[in-house]
Amino acid sequence: YPLVGNLIGEDHANYVLMYNMLTGIRIAVSRCQAKIKRPLTDQDFTARHKYSFDIVGNELTPSARYDFKFKDYAPWVFRELREDHFSLDPADYLLSLTSKYILSELTSPGKSGSFFYFSRDYRFIIKTIRHAEHKFLLRVLQRYWEHVKSNPHTLLSRFYGLHRVKLPRGQKIHFVIMNNLFPPHKDIHEAYDLKGSTIGRVVPPAKLEQNPRAVQKDLNWIDSDKVLELGPEKRALLTEQLRRDSEMLRDLGVMDYSLLVGLHWGARGNRENVRSNTLRVFEPSVPPIRRKTTQTKDGRSPEAIAMRRIMRASDPHHLGTTLDLPASPPLSTYSVPQPSPSTPPSHHHPMRAYTVGARPRSNSKATTATTLQTHLTQDRERVLFYQDEGGLQATDEGNEEMEVIYYLGIIDILTPYGGLKKVEHFWKGLKADRHKISPVPPAEYADRFFSFMKAIMRGGGGGARFKSE
Ligand code: ATP
Ligand code: CA
Ligand code: CA
Repeated sequence: YPLVGNLIGEDHANYVLMYNMLTGIRIAVSRCQAKIKRPLTDQDFTARHKYSFDIVGNELTPSARYDFKFKDYAPWVFRELREDHFSLDPADYLLSLTSKYILSELTSPGKSGSFFYFSRDYRFIIKTIRHAEHKFLLRVLQRYWEHVKSNPHTLLSRFYGLHRVKLPRGQKIHFVIMNNLFPPHKDIHEAYDLKGSTIGRVVPPAKLEQNPRAVQKDLNWIDSDKVLELGPEKRALLTEQLRRDSEMLRDLGVMDYSLLVGLHWGARGNRENVRSNTLRVFEPSVPPIRRKTTQTKDGRSPEAIAMRRIMRASDPHHLGTTLDLPASPPLSTYSVPQPSPSTPPSHHHPMRAYTVGARPRSNSKATTATTLQTHLTQDRERVLFYQDEGGLQATDEGNEEMEVIYYLGIIDILTPYGGLKKVEHFWKGLKADRHKISPVPPAEYADRFFSFMKAIMRGGGGGARFKSE
């Protein structure tokens, strides 16, 4: 979920494109990966590498099934993002996107005409983007990178690569590779795409009846009185991170982004094989990665190593990071961005053990108290919000676990407020409340987005006041 894919067979219009994308990624990424890591320079942010593929092949590129050109943008920057900031294992990354792995195409979920492809292991998404989005990402790449560096727990989309395929007739297709927010091993029982806008932001009940797992919108959330059930600490951390991220998006001048929220109820469990039954897939038969670069001394195959890593990552004993947070001030006095001045320094608070991710609490031990800010700037092995089986476990006010796991992140962040959006703002504003429509200027958008997300957390007052009369 939402993996209802279309079969991409050799006769499919996108088969060649998919093959070219994957072949290009494989060669470009392993080229960069084969070099010794070095610190980034300013030039790395504007660097681009060109590859030319054809049936014959040359010393730079092996022979491919089709003729095409491939461009890899800022490879060193994305390599650093992947390895140092998003803790991706290089071998996993390549294996997930190429080799024996399979990609499925999602029937275009957005209105924008972008295509989404999921890697077989469901960890990565390839999204085709418009030229304007591509140019925008390149323009802000350094700021994005800086934000990610100083915000290791950011909820913004994790971009792992930016590439372009050019077909012989000159058609150019730009795409990014990013994280799939939804987990491979858990069903998402409900999902919401939330913007803080309420005009037309609804999936009609009739449509939901047809497809109960359709991604819902703001009005569906508000009208069913949903609440993000998070205890005081998680709430404070999430609020603070959302504040930082939405300020960043405001400064970048973008809008139209969403908080994607997926819900998994433990009690409802997983319908085994849901995915493999509905998934019709395509095997690009990209030649396997050359063993020379990935095989280890003891002769284990890269696949075996990757599998072990995946197993290890999902081993419950590895989720046992213990984090001690000071008890938050009561919500009424809690103010973002800074803890309210009336709040005594955190070491005056009774310590409350707060275990992130691990089910057994027995191994939690008190360490020094730190502030919200420190928690969010400190690099930890795992992202705070993705620690509980890849998501964020709901908790009550006493930090007892509740039944739901949330999977959340901020997506679709590459839309600057330019000509088209301004026109849309004008026209939609004639018919409806100019402040409640989706296209509004970036500062207003960020404000509304942040206030809405605060409102829908427990104790936040609900999202109803965002509706128009
Ligand atoms: P539009 O501009 O019309 O909103 P788009 O083509 O830009 O559409 P997105 O808004 O990025 O598409 O995504 C559309 C849907 O795809 C989301 O609502 C969500 O269901 C799914 N999706 C997008 N990104 C992710 C992600 N990183 N993880 C999981 N699902 C995602
Ligand atoms: Ca969107
Ligand atoms: Ca979009």
